[in-house]
Amino acid sequence: MDDCIFCQIIEGKLPGTKLYEDDSVVAIKDKNPAAPVHVLIMPREHIPSIKDIQSSHANVLFKMFETANNLAKELGITDRGYRLTINCGPWAGQSVYHLHLHLLGGRAMSWPPG
Ligand code: AMP
Ligand code: ZN
Repeated sequence: MDDCIFCQIIEGKLPGTKLYEDDSVVAIKDKNPAAPVHVLIMPREHIPSIKDIQSSHANVLFKMFETANNLAKELGITDRGYRLTINCGPWAGQSVYHLHLHLLGGRAMSWPPG
């Protein structure tokens, strides 16, 4: 989608620090990190939000979580733990309407979230 910043980063039309990519997912560094490790894992396909998923997305959703686990290992945050977050809609704080999984780690986190 032309007006989607994440589609543009995926296509290389906007800058972004890619940590991983394959035929179905792309992982980039968050430009405004909320933790020492803050990575966004997204499908190449423009799915606006988690509420828009269908059974045809099962493989790419698995791939997103598998990529998050692999990156957590590579980045050394597996043992102490990490948080995987998907914000859905305005009250959850979703600001970019291209589905993405936040991988957050490298510091202790509190619960519940603000
Ligand atoms: P959310 O609020 O869940 O939709 O998350 C959107 C995330 O995208 C935020 O953490 C932003 O800091 C991040 N973000 C927005 N624009 C960019 C960009 N151009 N490159 C990398 N991360 C971005
Ligand atoms: Zn998009």
